[in-house]
Amino acid sequence: MIFVKNPEQIRLMKTAGRITGEALALAGEAVREGVSTAQLDSIIRHHIEKCGAKPSFLGYGGFPASACISINDEVIHGIPSKKRILKEGDIVKIDVGAFIGGFHGDSACTFPVGRISAEAQHLIDVTRESFYRGVEAAAKAGARIGDIGAAVDGYVTQMGCSTVKKYVGHGIGHALHEDPSVPNYGTAGRGVRLCTGMTIAIEPMVNLGGAAVRELPDGWTVKTADGSLAAHYEHTVALTADGPILLTKV
Ligand code: MG
Ligand code: MG
Repeated sequence: MIFVKNPEQIRLMKTAGRITGEALALAGEAVREGVSTAQLDSIIRHHIEKCGAKPSFLGYGGFPASACISINDEVIHGIPSKKRILKEGDIVKIDVGAFIGGFHGDSACTFPVGRISAEAQHLIDVTRESFYRGVEAAAKAGARIGDIGAAVDGYVTQMGCSTVKKYVGHGIGHALHEDPSVPNYGTAGRGVRLCTGMTIAIEPMVNLGGAAVRELPDGWTVKTADGSLAAHYEHTVALTADGPILLTKV
């Protein structure tokens, strides 16, 4: 069931979104060689709690930290650790959620550690741009869920990368994951019709190699099956009468 939000609820979601975006930006500023993923997680938790919010991911399905932090061929759901130290040339995906006022925000970004390869930068650029292609598709009158996925996957494929199919974006609001699913692939003109008041997390996960992924024995971390680099970019998006608003963009 899709929960459509009224303007007051979207206003509350702006607060959750802002805190989420701020926490992600603070962690991004701290990304450098020698920093552990546990340190980044602690920056995120500290900011969210300082704002009177709760980290959405902490304890979600038993997840042990406030952020998912995934390096290089890890796509999503990496568990922060004192033993995971960032190295020059790595790319690090940080995924954050904050809950306040009854609503969640959810946002992710891929950050370079120092100088990175041209292909890693290409992957980051393609992933970010594919997100905006998805938002643009969602903004068109009469758009459906399939339009978002078709726009994302069409662009990613055209740029020589692969879209992860096994994990998808989602509705978001009172719950971190609500209906509808928002796949990063699909057929234009198909699926649920988008309407004003829907709030969705659009989140392309893009691999430099093949689309296949595998889950590690830790029960969380998802890696590319072929060991190629992966990137992730996500914002919580509200569809309003005035067009899409990126609630987690700061
Ligand atoms: Mg996320
Ligand atoms: Mg999400």
